[in-house]
Amino acid sequence: MRGSCLCAGVVYEVDELASEIKHCACTTCRKAHAAAFNTGAAVALSQFRWIQGEDLLTCYESSPGIYRYFCSHCGSQLIKKVEGKDQLILRVATLDDDPKQVAQSVIWTSHAVPWLAYDSSLKMFEKNQAASLCELTLVPR
Ligand SMILES: [Zn+2]
Ligand SMILES: [Zn+2]
Repeated sequence: MRGSCLCAGVVYEVDELASEIKHCACTTCRKAHAAAFNTGAAVALSQFRWIQGEDLLTCYESSPGIYRYFCSHCGSQLIKKVEGKDQLILRVATLDDDPKQVAQSVIWTSHAVPWLAYDSSLKMFEKNQAASLCELTLVPR
């Protein structure tokens, strides 16, 4: 599968997803993506390649050891890396191809905005039931 950023400067390729697709409603995802939730899935580092525009990438350490990568030209969030992990979290909404599965759950519902109604078929988790998908520790300011 291929994916890209809004300006199409950055292009990547993924062999397969290593987890189910989840919506994360945590505060940091909400702010980073300017959306009620971010849709993510884990991918093994060995199954992910930048095809084009790696030099356009920049990252922001949103929690200690957690780096959100985005295109410095158009601002699209593309992946998240956690220090010491052999998986990254793909921003599924940047895929150009169909991952052929639907999102199964919402994590961090304890942070969910009050103005969005979720599909009742989704499993809801108050925090994060899969430690690698969105570990949240706010960076103190
Ligand atoms: Zn871009
Ligand atoms: Zn999150």
